[in-house]
Amino acid sequence: MKYQRSSQLFKAASKVIPGGVNSPVRAFKAVGGTPIFVNKAKGAYLYDADGNRLIDYINSWGPMVLGHAFPPVIEAVIEKAQLGTSFGMPTEIETKIAELAVSMVPNIDQIRFVNSGTEACMSAVRLARGFTGKEKIIKFAGCYHGHSDSFLIEAGSGAVTFGSPNSPGVTEGTAKDTLLAPYNNLEAVAAIFQANPSEIACIIVEPVAGNMGCIPPDSGFLEGLRVLCDAHAAVLVFDEVMTGFRLARGGVQELYGVNADIVCFGKVIGGGLPVGAFAARHEIMSHLAPLGPVYQAGTLSGNPLAMAAGYAMLQALESDAEVFERLAQKTEYLHKGIAATLTAHKIKHTINRIGSMISIHFSETPVVDFETAAEGNNERFKTFFHGLLDAGIYIAPSAFETWFITDALTYEDLDETIAAVAKVAPTL
Ligand SMILES: *Cc1c(COP(=O)(O)O)cnc(C)c1O
Repeated sequence: MKYQRSSQLFKAASKVIPGGVNSPVRAFKAVGGTPIFVNKAKGAYLYDADGNRLIDYINSWGPMVLGHAFPPVIEAVIEKAQLGTSFGMPTEIETKIAELAVSMVPNIDQIRFVNSGTEACMSAVRLARGFTGKEKIIKFAGCYHGHSDSFLIEAGSGAVTFGSPNSPGVTEGTAKDTLLAPYNNLEAVAAIFQANPSEIACIIVEPVAGNMGCIPPDSGFLEGLRVLCDAHAAVLVFDEVMTGFRLARGGVQELYGVNADIVCFGKVIGGGLPVGAFAARHEIMSHLAPLGPVYQAGTLSGNPLAMAAGYAMLQALESDAEVFERLAQKTEYLHKGIAATLTAHKIKHTINRIGSMISIHFSETPVVDFETAAEGNNERFKTFFHGLLDAGIYIAPSAFETWFITDALTYEDLDETIAAVAKVAPTL
């Protein structure tokens, strides 16, 4: 496959945009080479600037759960655009999507719309702090909650450590209020509560982790977080930006039967437009401005194009009783095909999967947290990535990313992908 035009476009972009991209994960730093520039996409396929057709396993990092250019979403956006794109005044479509979201997700009464997952998580933590009157938060190493200062904190050595910023520009003052635990480690969380009595406002967690590959919670982990939060009057925040409206109608709360206090959304809820949201019971949401003192606002929040796209997407998911089962079956088919192929070629690997999220790790040990996710063979991943790309299969350019399965994928597409893995396997 040729990427001449993409290379030219990347060169031009790099002159005026740092690194040539508007979000670092799009660059090919971890795998080498230059990013593919997209012209258009439809269903399961991307069409790049050189005219190549690629089967897409990123799907805009999650939103396109029903495939690219999903007709009801496109129609809704076109229709709304003709009526004006933003007013800074309330519109009826905001209530419609809010009603639908509240009816689909367990345990929430109200929802506030913002413009990204980052904003949703940042606002959720502020609300948790305002609601509890406490300042510290617990997050898990390897969980991503957007790029706001409090979340750019990395684990040091040892099971439990005080946060130190892993990006310049995040102050020590901010970092010291973020406490870190390894994912799937309840004892570490209990120890943090013990060491910081009456100081923890909330735990924020990806209830199924998706930003260090896909890591489902161990049995009892989410339940244990619920118990600890209740015991210490802390708020449990589920960051469902990736999992919401993807793993089940009501997200991980429904899937695992564990109630969160605040839930964050993004990605699928916007149907491919910039949307985030956070939601909770009345008791908590009433602390938010203009009802309460916790401030949060947005010029373009709830704008009609974004709301129309999100509403069409949620309606489509709501009205299709089998969609999540169908997604899970396709993902399982892919899992079995890839696992059999890699095993036949004696390539050591671990595959994690839940619903329509799957990740392939070139390591033998079970991948249960950031430390075990980091044990994968990165050189082997690079070869795998470029081999698949040459065969017309586009996966995320990083070993730490989940593949997102879309309902637009046919079993022929999955077979083509498995055949591509068979072609690459001897070179790994
Ligand atoms: C993508 C993601 C975010 C950030 O959302 P943006 O829209 O990129 O700001 C936050 N949390 C999780 C779990 C995510 O996957």
